[in-house]
Amino acid sequence: MKKQYDFIVIGAGSGGVRFARLMAGTGKKVCILENSRVGGTCVIRGCVPKKLYVYASNFNDQVIDAKTYGWSVGKSNHSWKTLVQKKNKEILRLNKIYIKNLKKAGVEIIQDHGSFLSSKKILLKRGKKIISAKKIIVATGSKPNYPNIPGSKIGISSDQFFELKKLPKNISIVGSGYIALEFAFLLKNLNYEVNLIIRKKTVLNEFDPDIGKRVLEYAVKKGIKVFNETSLKEIKKSGTKINIVTNKKTIKTNLLIYAIGRSPNVDSLNLENTKTKLDKKRAIKVNNNSRSNDQSIYAIGDVTNRKNLTPVAIREAMILFDHIRGKKPQLTLDYNKVASAIFTQPEVGSIGYGENDLIKLKKKYKILTTEFGPLKYSFMKNKKSKVFIKVMYDPRSEKVLGLIYIGESAAEIIQSLAIAFQKGLYLNDLRQTVPVHPTSSEELVTIF
Ligand code: FAD
Repeated sequence: MKKQYDFIVIGAGSGGVRFARLMAGTGKKVCILENSRVGGTCVIRGCVPKKLYVYASNFNDQVIDAKTYGWSVGKSNHSWKTLVQKKNKEILRLNKIYIKNLKKAGVEIIQDHGSFLSSKKILLKRGKKIISAKKIIVATGSKPNYPNIPGSKIGISSDQFFELKKLPKNISIVGSGYIALEFAFLLKNLNYEVNLIIRKKTVLNEFDPDIGKRVLEYAVKKGIKVFNETSLKEIKKSGTKINIVTNKKTIKTNLLIYAIGRSPNVDSLNLENTKTKLDKKRAIKVNNNSRSNDQSIYAIGDVTNRKNLTPVAIREAMILFDHIRGKKPQLTLDYNKVASAIFTQPEVGSIGYGENDLIKLKKKYKILTTEFGPLKYSFMKNKKSKVFIKVMYDPRSEKVLGLIYIGESAAEIIQSLAIAFQKGLYLNDLRQTVPVHPTSSEELVTIF
């Protein structure tokens, strides 16, 4: 006899876990399917391990900078093996907490791959069983893209990078998005030779152009070797060397990592057995309540490609939970008010529109900017990176439309700014704020 649930959630990542826990907490019969490890991309092979690696990589500069403040510092070495072991231990701890919390909430965890037989029926691949539910939530996330060229499988994706126990000296990263740039900086800071291969002349093209311009300049200054306007033609292996054949020259490397975007994870779901529809990028089309074209199927998180960030997947899950119970959602989600951070060096924090968006939307705007060397770097000859702040606002109402902060702790700074931004922030609010001195972020309120 097939097993019947109120809800089946496919994918135990950020969105799926939150929905399953909330719904099971109301006494409903909920199961969650996971074909890899509970925790999903963010915990196992995304935000968390990445940030741990970024922390590790930042110590290098801190040791060097300490000398300028009078510290005598000996030669320091980094052990990748130790870092990976520690990271794995921490991820295992988080994975266990996720499992414990799901069980505590009464969610049945099924370690299997699920695919649709019909709108309400799921086939379990390993268990060769059919389960069914009144409603099914697809929270299968996204998967890394590979280039469509000969030998492409010689390279690896960010997913596999996190599993590597050893790293060679020379590493090439392909891509211009935030993951590519974060990897390039963290590996360079850990003293590896890093090549960054980009298709255009610019990076971080989905953000305000002032961000990409500066991050690329700092990448070059750090010693990251940037190959711009370079597209891959073929990948060949000879011994331990990898030859990356491009439209320009052949780049020799020992490890090739693709960070060329991710696609919604829908390929093995057999969605053709349902009424769900996909958009041009193969993301599941949903309405504001995350309901697909099929009355019994909902989708949340990266698989819907709305804003692919962990807190967004979690918020979508919470709103869906209220919606399904017929409650007015207590929380809202305005995708334009979601702040984001890029963990390069320096960090980048941004919220709201960038100039690229404002131009596209034909919105009138004015800009305030400032760029300066922070006090902390006063003793450093090379003066390192500057702090850059940009405020975009409506010329009539003076409402702030977008904010950018590039500099140390930008991620933490933009988090606090996000609270003001979502309330509706005006230039006068910045003017009225008495600065905290001496800080770098005080320039936000003295920018006039
Ligand atoms: P996921 O967390 O991807 O979970 C989906 C789960 O579904 C996976 O565990 C998968 O194994 C499982 N699954 C898929 N298909 C099936 C199936 N058919 N049956 C059973 N199980 C299935 N976001 C941030 O906010 N901040 C960051 O700093 C950040 N850094 C990132 C760094 C990297 C390298 C990457 C790759 C991503 C990063 N992200 C970051 C994005 C973030 O990880 C995702 O937005 C988030 O994990 C999406 O959550 P989700 O629930 O949609 O899917």
